[in-house]
Amino acid sequence: MVLERTFSILKPDVTRRNLTGKINEKIEAASLRIIAQKRLWLTLPQAEAFYGVHATRSFFNDLCAFMTSGPVVVQVLEGENAVVAYRDLMGATNPANANPGTIRKEFAESIEANSVHGSDSLETAALEIKFFFSDLEIVG
Ligand code: GDP
Repeated sequence: MVLERTFSILKPDVTRRNLTGKINEKIEAASLRIIAQKRLWLTLPQAEAFYGVHATRSFFNDLCAFMTSGPVVVQVLEGENAVVAYRDLMGATNPANANPGTIRKEFAESIEANSVHGSDSLETAALEIKFFFSDLEIVG
């Protein structure tokens, strides 16, 4: 068994529609443990730094505006193969292409307001977790 940690964000479309609990229920049902969690309202500089890898993409400004349009919930998830397990649970970026049963199929509003973020590799997960959490805040 490979126990991993990944980083998750419940995006502003989730907090706006009061769906935090519904999404967390799906995360826990997929055997991922929420070992750290906090609700934040990102500043524009924070969003721009977090999504820095996308800085040259056409949708970068829209994405940062969306991510600062309301509160988010940032989380650390732990479980077997957590990075891939959470990506599978999230579904495709565009909810129109997401598989049935995935979070984005059930909850996402659009390709931008697609409810959740999840790290795309273990290396990214480590960096993203450090961006938001101190070791003291993570209780595995
Ligand atoms: P993810 O790993 O599935 O979240 O997808 P990406 O890393 O490719 O994109 C990061 C985030 O940017 C996505 O989750 C969306 O919120 C947003 N995004 C991706 N593609 C588009 C797009 O074509 N238009 C807009 N407005 N936002 C997008």
